[in-house]
Amino acid sequence: MTQDVNTNRHLAEKPKRMTQVAVLDDALFLEHDAPPEHPERAERLVAVRAGLSRAGTFLSLEARDATDEELGRVHDPGYVESLGHLAGRSGYLDSDTYLSPRTIAAARRAAGSAVGLVEVLSRGTTRFGFALPRPPGHHALADRAMGFCLLNNVAVAAAHARALGHERVLVLDWDVHHGNGTEAIFYADPSVLFVSLHQFPNYPGTGAATDHGTGEGRGRSVNLPLPPGGDDGVYAAAFERIVLPVVEQFAPSLALVSCGFDAHARDPLAQMRLSAAGYAAMTRGLLATLPEACPLGLVLEGGYDLEALRDSSEAVARVLLGGAESPELYRDPPHRPPRLPPSRPSPEHSAALAAITQAQSRFWKLS
Ligand SMILES: [Zn+2]
Repeated sequence: MTQDVNTNRHLAEKPKRMTQVAVLDDALFLEHDAPPEHPERAERLVAVRAGLSRAGTFLSLEARDATDEELGRVHDPGYVESLGHLAGRSGYLDSDTYLSPRTIAAARRAAGSAVGLVEVLSRGTTRFGFALPRPPGHHALADRAMGFCLLNNVAVAAAHARALGHERVLVLDWDVHHGNGTEAIFYADPSVLFVSLHQFPNYPGTGAATDHGTGEGRGRSVNLPLPPGGDDGVYAAAFERIVLPVVEQFAPSLALVSCGFDAHARDPLAQMRLSAAGYAAMTRGLLATLPEACPLGLVLEGGYDLEALRDSSEAVARVLLGGAESPELYRDPPHRPPRLPPSRPSPEHSAALAAITQAQSRFWKLS
């Protein structure tokens, strides 16, 4: 009798679907060892891992080192070589970018985790993934470390996607700080769309609405500088009015998110007011907008409150797991959830969104 029940259960199983979300992580990322009191510390990653384990189970993949060739697509080879000479040393590369004995090894592995993410997504075994690199990357310039970042993980990943044949790559940067390094690397490149929502003014001071790319890259940098205090409603409005219409029109073949959680209300380095539910809503909005076959990979950036990191990564991961389990949730209009909750931005935020819309309406159809 027991055997019959088991057999029936087996027969009732649905055909196998892509139900897994890849996570790329590495023990080395904890060995990038922060000086006392530094906000970019290993406990951040422990908190993110705790959030993911609350959300469910993942296809866990080991990261590998990025090669010189992969780094050389976005970084000056002389800079990469000079970093190599610093292996084993401690100190500071700028006023806030520290170096511990294992930092250089971690940085190369961090960029490799983002490259590996693009590879697993491009193979089609899973549509969604999350890389958890430390040190973070989006402030790193082609030839310079800055803002806790040594190598620009997401930029190395986007360049790798291009090398694998993806024609249009999206980098959506919702870290609360402007991703100046990523923007600079792709500023003249029409094949990589860089979209950044950031508190303005704030570190590093770049990312004005009128900075929209240069040469063939004109219109391919979309900056959304937002006044402090932006909450879930402000981000929802920014997504509905600007981010999602732009993503829809660009129609990426691969999408990456520079996933910082420092726009959360609890974060000590910024003054935005996003909740974990707000991060989930942005992820849902993005999933409902990406072309059906477009893979989505998140690459961890900042976020400095441990509870916010844990809760926000859990919320985002639950959306990815749900999308992998039930693709129709984000594909079939009758099943599609409302993209984002209704929003009521303040007059100050409404004015900022209007200015951004005006700056970008030369390049995109925005209502
Ligand atoms: Zn940040």
